[in-house]
Amino acid sequence: MSKALDELKQYLETVNHYIRATNLLYWDMKTKAPALGLEGHTNTLTYFSTEAFRMQTSDELSSLLERLAAPEELKELDDMWTFVVKRMKRDYDRNKRIPKDLYERFVRAQAEAGFAWEEAKNASDFSVFAPHLKNMITMTKEITGYTDPDKEVYDALLNQYEEGMDSATIDGIFEDLKKELIPLVSQILSAKQPDDGKFKGVFDMDAQRKVEKLLLSYIGFSFEKGTTGETEHPFTMEFSSKDVRVTNHFHEDMPISAMFSAIHEGGHAIFEQNINSDYDGTAAGNCTYMGIHESQSRFYENILGRNKNFWIPIYDKVGELLPQFKDITLEEFYREINHVRNSLIRTEADELTYCFHIILRYEIEKAIFRDDIDVNELPALWNRKMQEYLQITPSNDAQGILQDMHWSDGSFGYFPSYLLGNVYDGMYLDKIEEELGSVDDLLKEGRIGEITKWLNEKIHRYGSTRTPREVLSAVCGKEVSAEPLIRYFKEKYTALYGIQ
Ligand code: ZN
Repeated sequence: MSKALDELKQYLETVNHYIRATNLLYWDMKTKAPALGLEGHTNTLTYFSTEAFRMQTSDELSSLLERLAAPEELKELDDMWTFVVKRMKRDYDRNKRIPKDLYERFVRAQAEAGFAWEEAKNASDFSVFAPHLKNMITMTKEITGYTDPDKEVYDALLNQYEEGMDSATIDGIFEDLKKELIPLVSQILSAKQPDDGKFKGVFDMDAQRKVEKLLLSYIGFSFEKGTTGETEHPFTMEFSSKDVRVTNHFHEDMPISAMFSAIHEGGHAIFEQNINSDYDGTAAGNCTYMGIHESQSRFYENILGRNKNFWIPIYDKVGELLPQFKDITLEEFYREINHVRNSLIRTEADELTYCFHIILRYEIEKAIFRDDIDVNELPALWNRKMQEYLQITPSNDAQGILQDMHWSDGSFGYFPSYLLGNVYDGMYLDKIEEELGSVDDLLKEGRIGEITKWLNEKIHRYGSTRTPREVLSAVCGKEVSAEPLIRYFKEKYTALYGIQ
């Protein structure tokens, strides 16, 4: 083995010790640590994560990567290490272009904007957040000028979260969705709505925890390579393919919410658990493409989890754990998990109206970075678009423009990846039906494992080594298109709501 590669492996092993310690602390602080202990842990966490960051940006790493990227060294490397060296070098060079003082100012501004956002949201007063938002926009533009000098700012931002994606492509996809789905949503909203009375009440929390475990096992989450916890906001955390953890939030009065969070985070986790374990601890390991990652969580949550047949093999077991469900027929449950409502809050939206929550945010981000719209005009723009797409206007900023924290930490360009995930899912669904047969039948017969195996082999095991475009071309043989997702929505919801 090349000497430089050997050195890189040893170097990464040390970096990974720091990262692992950081992650373990973070997990513990989020799930178990008592409130008064947090401060001490925060100091330790800062120590380990600073050390990891220092090693990831050191001159020593730079010269190691330089040596390995030389043609005579590179040609000796296998596919994985070729990818890892190129990827690390690209990211290193990119980050190195950001002036240190600018980066430090950005981190500080992020923290301040986060506090201001929380305060603004609690007071439902956009003016508290506006100056911070303006600052985050200015600094984001400045940083992007260094990292991606040749790209238009918003395209550079999109590309950060979903490599190879640009606004010209997304414009086409989102316009198709708008053209077909605005009329569909409008028809649904004026159709007869299902009665949700049976879903109101108090549902035992321990029983809900058992349902979470049942669902995770059912979809293929491995408890030998993973565990669960409880947090305010559900998330997935991976240490390696052999230790991937999910969290959930249980509410006494919202059992369905926790079920679908479990399936969603389970989808993220199944992805990470099935990445080739040789990639552990390298840049090939966990998947950094947000659209591709969301396509997995959303495939389980929506395409599978919101299909009636998904529940046929397990619905009785759910009823044994949560006795109130014995009085709810599978048909009633199916209607409720696909109940289309023009709600104000993105995270509570059904799979269909969800599209518009994202399209609206995407169009506002474009207005920010392309048209230089004045920040003070954003709430009004938000409300106008809500009315246009979902026929509803927020009565305050907390339920409108202040609802998500993404912009407070400068995550501009992140939102579209959620919807891109759904768009990819339509394409996977077509391909699975072509190769494995009807998904309805597979689910009804309890053969969900075959679908998981298909996803493992076609998508999961490659980790980060295939870009989104490469995934779609290898798996579906096509460029990205909204047509399959639109067809799926139309077939499903015209039947559900009896629309001609
Ligand atoms: Zn997700």
